[in-house]
Amino acid sequence: MNEQQRKQQSQITQVNPTDIKSSSENLKRIKNLSSDDMVSKYFESTYQPPDIKKARKRGREKVNVHYDFDIPEDMANIGEGKKFLIRTYGCQMNEHDTEVMAGILTEMGYESTDNTNEADIILLNTCAIRENAENKVFGEIGHLKPLKLEKPDLILGVCGCMSQQESVVNRILQKHQHVDLIFGTHNIHRLPHLVKEAMFSKANVVEVWSKEGDIIENLPKVRHGKIKAWVNIMYGCDKFCTYCIVPMTRGKERSRRPEDIIQEVRHLAANGYKEITLLGQNVNAYGKDFDDMTYGLGDLMNELHKIDIPRVRFTTSHPRDFDDHLIEVLAQGGNLLDHIHLPVQSGSSHILRKMNRKYTRESYLELVHKIRKAMPNATLTTDIIVGFPNETEEQFEETLSLVEEVGFEAAFTFIYSPREGTPAAAMKDNVPMEVKKERLYRLNELVNKQSAESMKKYKDKVVKVLVEGESKKDPDVLAGYTERNKLVNFKGPKSAIGQIVDVKITDAKTWSLDGIMVENTVEVN
Ligand code: SAM
Ligand code: SF4
Repeated sequence: MNEQQRKQQSQITQVNPTDIKSSSENLKRIKNLSSDDMVSKYFESTYQPPDIKKARKRGREKVNVHYDFDIPEDMANIGEGKKFLIRTYGCQMNEHDTEVMAGILTEMGYESTDNTNEADIILLNTCAIRENAENKVFGEIGHLKPLKLEKPDLILGVCGCMSQQESVVNRILQKHQHVDLIFGTHNIHRLPHLVKEAMFSKANVVEVWSKEGDIIENLPKVRHGKIKAWVNIMYGCDKFCTYCIVPMTRGKERSRRPEDIIQEVRHLAANGYKEITLLGQNVNAYGKDFDDMTYGLGDLMNELHKIDIPRVRFTTSHPRDFDDHLIEVLAQGGNLLDHIHLPVQSGSSHILRKMNRKYTRESYLELVHKIRKAMPNATLTTDIIVGFPNETEEQFEETLSLVEEVGFEAAFTFIYSPREGTPAAAMKDNVPMEVKKERLYRLNELVNKQSAESMKKYKDKVVKVLVEGESKKDPDVLAGYTERNKLVNFKGPKSAIGQIVDVKITDAKTWSLDGIMVENTVEVN
């Protein structure tokens, strides 16, 4: 998705949002910020950046599932009369982590606010995927400094993927001493303890675990809205694409037990949710880490197919692990939607090899062929990186031709961003930035053209729209998504919000459709 598309997609005001009214050995208080040694010692003793060789081994480590999360008694009401604000950067996984942190803080008595001046705790839930994502966070940390100086009791925390990197933690401790709390992606469940430490210690609290491996099941959540919900099915990634920081920030692949996922989805259905999206960095690897049974994403989707919830999506797929059984299950349709997001990254087999993607242009096209054969109406979307080190014009053109050949209807497109500690960051790169930008521009032009063409097909057709809320531009206009994930704006009664309604398409734009609601289609619950 390019910038234009991203903007369009954030034009819905969610109506009916939920009213968001360990180990001490690993916990370090860094009292003297000039002592860089303490930070590096901390990382030496508790943090080992994973590498490709270790990945093979780490896959075999046992995953324990815990069902005993509890807020300690002395912290249960610690937030009464106080407010929290969590700012989220990056992917859906981070958005969902924010829902968990909001759930924990709410159980501690805090109420949510979106006003920084009112907040007693501000957490920045960060993304490390590209350099500009990190820059935004450092900018925000700087902006919050005057507020922290004005309100010394404010707890300012940095969590999420950036915190999993030693260099980032060092930079925060050295240059942004007004940050009170730094914690990673594996120890969110320790939030009550960390807040307590930050409150009473008057020193910086840093707790980052590289030793992941456990799944904590019963964490509270405050979901953003009552219409669509995220459901984690697995954590981490063992794919080690050479450009990607995720295996280092999110740890090894570990799958939730199917019964826990099914129970969560049943519960969401019973509570009136209309759509769930199963989340994982590589959902097709679901179940590969189970040592007591053979069970994969296809089996899970087959179970979810039987649950009375209208829409089930999943993201993100890795082409390498997308198996025939899954295709067979998805082809049943029903609540399993025929929109598949299948990141390709490049159309050149040579670049794919350098990226360690473990498939070729040909095998990707073969997979697309299989999917189309089983699901002739499926919409395919993708992720693409341009300007990978030493990408030639011909190799880039292979990406353009693949985009055409597959007929992607949308794509998240990125300029390659070197990430410290990844193999690609050590590669020499002879592609100048202007060339990378020009390639991104050309790619976006093509994707826009294909998106506009795909939209035209809907003119005068009636589509089913899950209505999410009002359009931010015009509160009289409602907005929602079709089964194939097309954004639709239309005039209709507010009672349609949260329902699946029929909308006749009157106009097709590049990234969205306009329509009118077909009378009497609001479902009665
Ligand atoms: N696990 C998913 C997959 O393999 O397709 C994607 C996860 S990642 C959060 C989302 C996307 O960010 C990737 O598909 C890739 O296109 C992009 N990305 C990851 N690392 C990047 C980097 N170093 N530079 C530019 N884009 C990157
Ligand atoms: Fe990153 Fe996705 Fe590759 Fe995992 S599969 S390393 S998350 S791009």
